[in-house]
Amino acid sequence: MTSGSSIPAPGCKPGNADQPLRVAIIGAGPAGFYAADHLLKRDDLNIEVDMFDRLPTPFGLVRHGVAPDHLKIKNVTKVFDRTAQNPKFRFFGNVTCGEHLTPADFRDYYHQIVYTVGAQTDRALGIDGEDLQGSHSATEFVAWYNGHPDYRDLKFDLSQPTVAIVGMGNVAVDVARILCRTVDELKETDIADYALQQLAQSKVKHVVMLGRRGPAQAAFSLPELKELGKMHDAQVRVLPEEAALDDLTKKHMVEKPDATAQKKVDQLQQVAAAPDAGKSRDLTIRFLVSPINITESDGRVAGVDIVHNELYETDNGTMRPRATEKTEHLDCGLIFRSVGYLGVPLEGVPFHDKWGVIPNEKGRVTSDESSKEPLVGEYCAGWIKRGPSGLIGTNKGCAIETVQCMLEDVKAGNLLQPEYPTADAAEHLIRQRQPVFFSYDHWRSLDEHELNLGKEAGRPRVKLTTVQSMLEVLGK
Ligand code: NAP
Repeated sequence: MTSGSSIPAPGCKPGNADQPLRVAIIGAGPAGFYAADHLLKRDDLNIEVDMFDRLPTPFGLVRHGVAPDHLKIKNVTKVFDRTAQNPKFRFFGNVTCGEHLTPADFRDYYHQIVYTVGAQTDRALGIDGEDLQGSHSATEFVAWYNGHPDYRDLKFDLSQPTVAIVGMGNVAVDVARILCRTVDELKETDIADYALQQLAQSKVKHVVMLGRRGPAQAAFSLPELKELGKMHDAQVRVLPEEAALDDLTKKHMVEKPDATAQKKVDQLQQVAAAPDAGKSRDLTIRFLVSPINITESDGRVAGVDIVHNELYETDNGTMRPRATEKTEHLDCGLIFRSVGYLGVPLEGVPFHDKWGVIPNEKGRVTSDESSKEPLVGEYCAGWIKRGPSGLIGTNKGCAIETVQCMLEDVKAGNLLQPEYPTADAAEHLIRQRQPVFFSYDHWRSLDEHELNLGKEAGRPRVKLTTVQSMLEVLGK
């Protein structure tokens, strides 16, 4: 098959009854579904959406990233489910872009391509000892306890009494909560069965979160902080001297009042003043400290050297941490870095290495970050567009911005000119390249099966965590 031309053809405007606008969305997470929804809502255009994911199941981080004890947040899948009911929507799971189909293939079969592949890896700390046994990324642990097929076989040494978590975002808080919750609490979640069994044997007693800045700059949100206080058998601790604001932050808070930051500080100061509650586990939130070296014993993590920081103000008014002379050592047998997710490049698609995103202008893919000239027919949305920040709902506005650019380009006839712009041709190619693909109907059957397993076990859901087990349930 010859390659489709990407030269724009003014006047060629698919989207009518005879020639639907064929759109491929790569990545079935929130950004992908919000983009699909916004496209399919257009009743003035005939649009068909094929959504692809390398996993057999849809929903991306809603299934494999959102904490298992945040079941209400996962209800957003009901909205995605409604989008998937549209007869012009198709899902092709277990199909990997770059393996089964390449970007060049998509250009041959679709008028527009949207990359919504998220941020699949994590940032490193760049300190000695980071590769020791017992040092992990939070993203791996999150994917493990959420039953991600690629991470289910990872091993975390939960026989260690003390665990350090570097970073102070909501992911760090999720990890801390999962380590601190009782088995009875975890049973009420959709945590992977194997993770539940291993966490039931956990010997972890002390969890220490290390934040490089102060309480007013903590990245976690207030509801997440408050939720920590509701854990059944774990006490949150903050050192009183670290809950107190430094002089620069005090001045800053007077000059530029920030009600949310103030509420977090108040809450943290209340925690610091609270008496001992005699719980089995504790979670200590430390401020103004950075890891500088992970120490080892017999080739595995034995502790972490920490330097105390002070804050300084940058020219743009941001408070940044700077190391002082003061250091300390924390004994711990397990350490998680939780300092942000990072996008990974797709072969054949431009990528900004440092930022870990696809360079773009409002969602139109550009050849590099300095170029304002968009590539014809290629778009992105979600974390691969703007970096790993924001809540699930943030992806809605992000996807809508991208779709608006797509619709403007349809109007202008600025589209790819695929050689095979039909649903049948695309399905034929997919069947050739990946016969074992999963449709949305397959997902509905798997979903029902998981919910039934959950009912039998007295849990909200028991996840299938291998592709093989999913195939067996489908009788494939
Ligand atoms: P994040 O919110 O960006 O937090 C990253 C943390 O890592 C910050 O505390 C940051 O400190 C710290 N950090 C970065 N580089 C560091 C270094 N070299 N040394 C020490 N600390 C370092 O990222 P995230 O926690 O991965 O969350 C990603 C996004 O998902 C966020 O928008 C988050 O709100 C969202 N999320 C939401 C929920 C929820 O709603 N419950 C749950 C999970 C995730 P600085 O602040 O000093 O840079």
